Amino acid sequence: MEKIKKLAKGTEYFSIKGQKISDDFLIRTPYMDKYDVQRFQDEMLVGRYQNTYRNQLLKIRTSGSTGKIVEILWNPDDYIASNLSLWRERWRYYRIKNTDFYLTFHSLIYSGTQVRENRELEIILNKTYLSINKLLFSESKLDDYIKLFARYPIKWIFTQPSMLLIFIKALQKNNLDPKRIFPHLRYIELNGEILFQSEQELFYDFFKVPIANLYGASEVNGIAYQCPGGHLHILEKNVKVQLFNYRRINEHIYEGEIAVSSLHNKVMPIISYALGDKVTIDTNVTCKYSISPVVNILIGRSNDRIPLLGNISFSSYQLSYWVERVNTEIGNPILEYKANYKNQKITIFLYIKQDFRGWENEIVYRFKKHLEKSNIKEKIDCICLLNPIELSDNGKVRGVEFDEETKH
Ligand SMILES: [Zn+2]
Repeated sequence: MEKIKKLAKGTEYFSIKGQKISDDFLIRTPYMDKYDVQRFQDEMLVGRYQNTYRNQLLKIRTSGSTGKIVEILWNPDDYIASNLSLWRERWRYYRIKNTDFYLTFHSLIYSGTQVRENRELEIILNKTYLSINKLLFSESKLDDYIKLFARYPIKWIFTQPSMLLIFIKALQKNNLDPKRIFPHLRYIELNGEILFQSEQELFYDFFKVPIANLYGASEVNGIAYQCPGGHLHILEKNVKVQLFNYRRINEHIYEGEIAVSSLHNKVMPIISYALGDKVTIDTNVTCKYSISPVVNILIGRSNDRIPLLGNISFSSYQLSYWVERVNTEIGNPILEYKANYKNQKITIFLYIKQDFRGWENEIVYRFKKHLEKSNIKEKIDCICLLNPIELSDNGKVRGVEFDEETKH
C-alpha cells in the first residue's frame, strides 16, 4: 500500500527526526527560462490583459547581471501581495516596517520602459526612500551626501554588497563615524549579489546594526531572506522553489540549479522558471525563527567589473545602463549583452532582434557614443549577433565575463 502511494504521487519520502519530508521540489527540467519570457511575452499575458487592460499593468524590466533583458508585467495588487511576506519577516525579525525611511542606490531609472539619461537626476527622493545614483557616486561629493542624509530619518540601508563596500571605503578614508552620519540607523539589507560571510562581518563591524541578506529576482521578488540566525529561509508564501540538474549531498541537502514559480503574478504567470543560479537547499535546518527550507547560493549573479587602463573599471550595472540607453533611443533592439575580457582586450557582444537586421552599424555607433560620453577612451570592439549569446563554460550567461587566465 505504502509503495503504491509513492508511485502514484511520483514522490519519495524519507524520515528525519520522525518527520516526513518530501523531495518533490526536485525536477528533471524547468518549464521556462529568460528566452521564453523574451520571445513569448505577449502570449504569456492572461487574455484580457493582452489589449484592453495592458496599460494598467506595472512593468518590471531587468537584466540583473546576466545581461539578458526581460520585462515582467504585474497587476499592481499582485505585486504588493508578492512583497507582503518579505515585509512580514522584516518586521518579525528586525522590526522594520514599510513606512520606515531608507537609503538606497540606483543605476537605471525607468519611466515606463524608457531609461532616462543619468545626468538629469542624481538622487531620487520620495516618502520612504532616498536613492543615490551609484554610477555617479564619488568621494568628492561625500560632503553633499552627508548634508542630505542629515535631513532624513534613515532607519535602514538597502543595497548591493559591492556598493556598500565602496560606500564604507569612502567613509573610512574620510574618518567619518557612521553613528554620527546615520543616528537613526538600525538595520542593513543586502541584495543582488552573493553576500560573503567576511563581508557581512565587515559591514557589522562598521555599522554595528543587524545585517540581513535578501535573495531575490526582479521576475518574482523575494525568494529567500536571512533570519537573525543567519539562514536564508525560502519565502514560501511568495515563491515555490525547485531544483534541476541536482545531486544529493546528504540525507537532506541537495545541490542544483534553481527554478522558481511566482505564487502571486496572475497576469504573467512565471512557472518553474530557471534563474541561472546554482544553490543548495537544506530541508532540515533547526531554527527558532523559521521552519522554511534554507538556501545557500553557490554561483550567483554578481557585480563583475571589467578593468580599464589607469585604475578605472566598469561594472555590469554600467554596461546595462549603456545598453538600455540605446534601447530607449531606437526601439529596444538589444535583447542580451555580454562583455568579454580576454588577453587585455574588451569585446562587447550585443544580441539584437531579427527586425533590426541591417541596423548593426547604427546600434554599434550609438553604443560607442555612450562609451565616449562616459569618458571611456579604450578601444572596445562591439559586435552585433542575430543569435543568442552562447553559454559560458559553467552553463551560465553572465553580463561580464573574463577568460579564466585573465581573472586571478
Ligand atoms: Zn533561521
